[in-house]
Amino acid sequence: MDLGLTQEQEQFRDLARDWVDREVVPHVTEWDRAEQVDLKIVGKLADLGFLGLGIAEEFGGSGGDFLSYILMMEELGRGDTSVRGIVSVSLGLVAKSIQAYGTDAQKRQWLPGMCAGDTLGCFGLTEPGTGSDAGSLTTRAVRDGDDWLITGEKIFITNGTWAGVVLVFARTGGPGPKGITAFLVPADAPGLTRREIKGKLGLRGQATAEINFDGVRVSDANRLGREGGGFKIAMSALDKGRIAVASGSVGLARGCLEAAVAYAQERTQFGKPIASYQLVQEMLADMAVETDAARLLVWRAADLVDRGRTFGTEASMAKLFATESAVKAANQAIQVFGGYGYVDEFPVGKAMRDARVTTLYEGTSQIQKLLIGRALTGISAF
Ligand code: FAD
Repeated sequence: MDLGLTQEQEQFRDLARDWVDREVVPHVTEWDRAEQVDLKIVGKLADLGFLGLGIAEEFGGSGGDFLSYILMMEELGRGDTSVRGIVSVSLGLVAKSIQAYGTDAQKRQWLPGMCAGDTLGCFGLTEPGTGSDAGSLTTRAVRDGDDWLITGEKIFITNGTWAGVVLVFARTGGPGPKGITAFLVPADAPGLTRREIKGKLGLRGQATAEINFDGVRVSDANRLGREGGGFKIAMSALDKGRIAVASGSVGLARGCLEAAVAYAQERTQFGKPIASYQLVQEMLADMAVETDAARLLVWRAADLVDRGRTFGTEASMAKLFATESAVKAANQAIQVFGGYGYVDEFPVGKAMRDARVTTLYEGTSQIQKLLIGRALTGISAF
């Protein structure tokens, strides 16, 4: 098995790595304290083609395979999970769903602007009453001639207040997943209101929002995919999205490991660098092994995507292991930093707060275990 990258993938990863070191790393504490990343970063991401990776060139994208996208997620995740989230939601969940399920007109309407960074997308699935059980969502879309009227509430929507287009999932039929349809709603549509959720534990640079739909009128031309096909669109976006979250978590853990190794070599106690103590080396070794193991799971899942094979269970395994490992790595990095890890002049405290959400969104760790368990036994324990 060839675990190496092609020359093209390596060059792309190095480009992303240098860019993150220059444009993201120096600003993360400032953005975290301000509770908002500088949105100029969106234009910069677009200039490098990062917001169009995997989107066909005829729609303004920069092409590229899925593994390259995943390498970018690791580098962005190493820099700042808030920045990684802008890309993984707008490009990974929304633009790629439009590319996969949209009509030619929908692709021409939205994709060039999204790849250019003029329009961000957000993914509206979760509701106050339905989180893990997304198939029971209650936002309704009712036919009115050639139009639909959408009413309901979405919560915890990443990019929510920044987005120009909302990919929203609404019930058009009976109960359960088969009654759900997807729509592309311009964020300035009358009746659509948004409120940013403040006071998050982590991901403070991100705009996470509540979005309210009060009889929002859209034409049938805004329907993405077939009537009743919305849940399938959501789940297929999330299957790949889980690999992206996993890769971002590998990046976060790697950032923690690199910071902890450097600090342990510099910091002296009892007359020697703390890196010379076995108990400190044990923490570093544990972080390194789990981070590498997580990356192998991520690359295996990404490779299956590029080969056109089924990958859902492998995506869940990668997400479960990589996100839980990132939480552990950030926690251990704080331990290596001692008291200095507890203040935000050093990056590991923020990493811990950011890592914590990755075990919650795009399917909690428990949900990933249920998916893996169902694949193993054939029995659904949901
Ligand atoms: P619940 O589903 O209520 O779960 C609570 C607990 O119960 C968890 O531990 C869960 O694992 C457990 N649980 C639930 N059901 C079972 C079961 N059957 N068996 C065992 N345990 C179970 N959503 C979007 O649609 N778009 C976004 O862009 C988005 N971004 C987000 C950003 C942030 C910062 C956050 C915090 C969330 C975001 N989400 C988004 C929502 C996220 O996907 C949900 O929070 C997640 O799916 C969990 O839903 P919940 O919070 O309602 O928890």
